[in-house]
Amino acid sequence: MNVLDMISNQQHIYEVLKQNKINDRLSHAYLFYGDEGVGKKEMAYALACLFYCEHEGCLECETCKNILEGQHLNVSYIGVLESKKLISKEQITDLQEEFSKTSLLEGPRIYIVDGIDTASASAQNSLLKFIEEPMNNTPTIGIFIAKDLANVVSTIISRCSLIHFPSIDVKKLSNLLISDGVDALDASLASLITNNVSLAKELLLTKEYQETKELVLNFLEIKNQKQAVLFYVQEVSRLTLENMNLFFKWLIAFYEDIFKIEDKEGLILTALYDKILMYAKTENSELKAQFAFVLNLYSKLNYNVSAKNIFHELISKLF
Ligand SMILES: [Zn+2]
Repeated sequence: MNVLDMISNQQHIYEVLKQNKINDRLSHAYLFYGDEGVGKKEMAYALACLFYCEHEGCLECETCKNILEGQHLNVSYIGVLESKKLISKEQITDLQEEFSKTSLLEGPRIYIVDGIDTASASAQNSLLKFIEEPMNNTPTIGIFIAKDLANVVSTIISRCSLIHFPSIDVKKLSNLLISDGVDALDASLASLITNNVSLAKELLLTKEYQETKELVLNFLEIKNQKQAVLFYVQEVSRLTLENMNLFFKWLIAFYEDIFKIEDKEGLILTALYDKILMYAKTENSELKAQFAFVLNLYSKLNYNVSAKNIFHELISKLF
């Protein structure tokens, strides 16, 4: 595991965590999510360092090295079983049993569950008590890692600090497009759904892109139920499964940005900063509930449910 390289790719996330540590605002449960290979596992170990290192998580001292090498007695890790391609309930039970014994070392105990989205819903739910009630009165910190947030139960999502790891390419592509003269908002929106400059430029010219962009921007202007109903009536005729797909991808990215508002460098939709800031004022637990709902609706789109019904559900729940 090349932690230093991976961390440097997501430096802004580490800086935010460090700042939280300095201000004594580290959470007792984290959920890191994002594509394969974006440094989630490495960041989990680096976060563990922040709890123990005497030099603000230098990643170089003996303590940090010990943690990064997986040798620290108070840092436990469970990952996806190769044979089953998932995290089993037994692994979770074993972890809890290990934590019920007194630790040989002082200080908080940290567990990393790498692949929480592969565990069954009942296995995930068996962790809930564990998150909330530390064993033996020892502070316990959970770090959960997922590729697909739609497979994490909402009860876990609502109890964790969410940290999204952007694919490094999204930021890169967006910057490339901007330096090519593309408007900042178009650049970020296109980067979320394509993976190269020429595809992105083609996309920007399509009617579907323009219409869905307008839909999202109008959606973000809604402030109350009355406006929401009006909006629905106006837009309903042009809702298709295709533009709903696009709409949800952007809406999800928008929520992800809300959760990392403190990390301005790491935002994807920087052109919508004022809107993100406005949404970020909503109470965090409410935002997480909304986000879990949005993810759930998005996963329904794949089952060929009517786009209109899904949109109606979205509007009625959020406003
Ligand atoms: Zn250190």
